[in-house]
Amino acid sequence: MVAKIIDGKALARVVRGECKIRADKLIAAGCHPGLAVLVVGSDPASRVYVNNKVRACTEVGVESTLLEFPADVSEEEVLMKIKALNTDPAVHGILVQLPLPEHISVRKVLETISHEKDVDGFHLYNVGSLVLGNSVFPPCTPYGVQKLLESEGIDVRGQNVVVVGASNIVGKPMALMLMQQEATVAICHARTRDLAQFTILADILVVAAGKPGLIVPQMVKAGAVVIDVGINRMPDGSIVGDVDFEGVKKKASYITPVPGGVGPMTVTMLIVNTLESAERVLEAGRHISSIN
Ligand code: NAD
Repeated sequence: MVAKIIDGKALARVVRGECKIRADKLIAAGCHPGLAVLVVGSDPASRVYVNNKVRACTEVGVESTLLEFPADVSEEEVLMKIKALNTDPAVHGILVQLPLPEHISVRKVLETISHEKDVDGFHLYNVGSLVLGNSVFPPCTPYGVQKLLESEGIDVRGQNVVVVGASNIVGKPMALMLMQQEATVAICHARTRDLAQFTILADILVVAAGKPGLIVPQMVKAGAVVIDVGINRMPDGSIVGDVDFEGVKKKASYITPVPGGVGPMTVTMLIVNTLESAERVLEAGRHISSIN
């Protein structure tokens, strides 16, 4: 068997086309969708991610504002800026690029963002909503994976899903979203003993560990769907995922490449969440004016 390669770039193009139409409609109704992106310090990887997000927003007509702070900015200053953005009607989404310098509390930052503008879906309120199964803004990377599966008509109901990686931004929300869709989900992490005994049972294997070459063909069930979230920069400058793509491709039924798989969808779902936020604001405004 040779797996079908799920083309995240192509799907992202289609979804961004739909986003452009939604953005145009909002603008015509007098509501220009806006995203504020805060970045602290000069971590090169963060800069690349932020620039990608800003460029993608501009392409579809979402106004993005990049707010850059030096690495030694005080926590107080960042929190004050977030509070100002929370009440700025031109801003429908607020994103703080992680990681942050150690002296700034990620928890405080995420909890200061209004949950109504938390388009990354990391606020306690949004995480709680996800647990209850009625997410306000689904976190962008798992949301992107969900769209990739849907685009191929892969029904997760009743499937054995194994998620490798249990971070707050990828693994845990991914597992919750799949469980909500009635998959049987197992989560593995760095302390899991004998990872292969879990992965081999997966009908759908989602890998987000940040370890190149972690998943080799012997660990994959024949015909499994393999989603590789990992992004690893190798010493030669190339980017690879967590899965031995060439080996596993010969065994899986579907596989996502790195780059060109999950990555483009993550950025796309950020735009989708920002548009969703702006549409909610517009709708709420219409509702209020219909009452008055
Ligand atoms: P993280 O470091 O916060 O979490 C990694 C998780 O993997 C942890 O739960 C850890 O226990 C687990 N893990 C580590 N080594 C393992 C091993 N040998 N076996 C099993 N589990 C192991 O990372 P993260 O932020 O969740 O990101 C994970 C990967 O996904 C990274 O490569 C990151 O760059 C990538 N990523 C990609 C996108 C995208 O859009 N494609 C978005 C976010 C993160």
